[in-house]
Amino acid sequence: MGPKTNPRIVVLEHVLIATAAGLIAWGLRALSPPVPTLAVFVFVLTFAILTLMHERYERALIVLREAARTDPLTGLLNRRGLDRVFRRELARARRSGEPLAVLLGDIDHFKQVNDTFGHAAGDETLKVVAGALERGVREVDVVARFGGEEFAVLLPGQDERGAYDLAERLRTEVADASKNGSETVTISFGIAAFPLHAGTASGLLSAADAALYHGAKRLGRNAAAVYDAATTEMLSAGDELSGELATAIAIAEQIDARDTGSMEHSRRVGRIAERLAEELGLAEHEQERLRLAGRVHDVGKIAVPEEVRQKSGPLDEAEWEQMREHPETRWEAAGG
Ligand code: GH3
Ligand code: MG
Ligand code: MG
Repeated sequence: MGPKTNPRIVVLEHVLIATAAGLIAWGLRALSPPVPTLAVFVFVLTFAILTLMHERYERALIVLREAARTDPLTGLLNRRGLDRVFRRELARARRSGEPLAVLLGDIDHFKQVNDTFGHAAGDETLKVVAGALERGVREVDVVARFGGEEFAVLLPGQDERGAYDLAERLRTEVADASKNGSETVTISFGIAAFPLHAGTASGLLSAADAALYHGAKRLGRNAAAVYDAATTEMLSAGDELSGELATAIAIAEQIDARDTGSMEHSRRVGRIAERLAEELGLAEHEQERLRLAGRVHDVGKIAVPEEVRQKSGPLDEAEWEQMREHPETRWEAAGG
């Protein structure tokens, strides 16, 4: 709720009415007694009317302020509303030293939904997605409609790892909620967290946006990706890096994130490979190639079933067989 009307103005209005009524009473003092009494009555009545008008005015202001921050279609906060909450939560995170994560979600192939089923059905889908997101978050989290078919979720107290887990759950919620026969609507998420990726709301949103478009959408959609400055720089460099390699990096990191909860393993192997290349005195472009190779070294795991990759106990012989195949899959994918 925003600030109320300045109370000094309210007092001034009432003083002015009292003065006017007093002046009338003073001007009419020579007349017979009923006239000053009438002036007092007018004063009391005007005072009461003004107080009631103020009440109505304050209520209308509250409704208008709410409307300005709410998206009428989904009932979620709109971008303006999100900005306000974002500033408040960032200030709180700075004070408490707790992290704050943001997810930016964009519905996959939404144009097709509109083209196939019509704009009204598209609107209904937006409501279904909004409902699924709201149901999937904690009480303290904030879901907003960021733009046309883009949603933002603020996660106070969560770092990028917790946010990634939630994004994965929300993807499933959205797909389940929107299931209609064989049709499902899916969503992709980009993730950024304070203080790791940026210190401001706009910095965090643009980091999440980069992870969404350079990571999750590039992974083939219906995916979540955590922001990484080096990856974004590399992937947005366009012709510096082939589309296939960019996609391979995105896939390898996605598998890493699903199996270990972060992308640190792929990135660390990449950094170590680069350092070794440097120690060996290789040329700079060769060091860079080894760093990229390190980052995609696990991409073949895509062919290993998730239950085998993530099994906590020892693997049986058949599972080992599947696990051993992964470097070969990578080799074949790279063209032998
Ligand atoms: P991508 O997977 O790359 O995101 O593909 P996309 O088709 O979803 O592409 P994009 O995000 O660029 O498309 C957004 C579409 O969302 C375009 C517009 O027609 C539709 N859209 C935006 N706002 C609304 C809305 O309020 N209602 C409806 N029905 N459609 C909307
Ligand atoms: Mg979009
Ligand atoms: Mg879209």
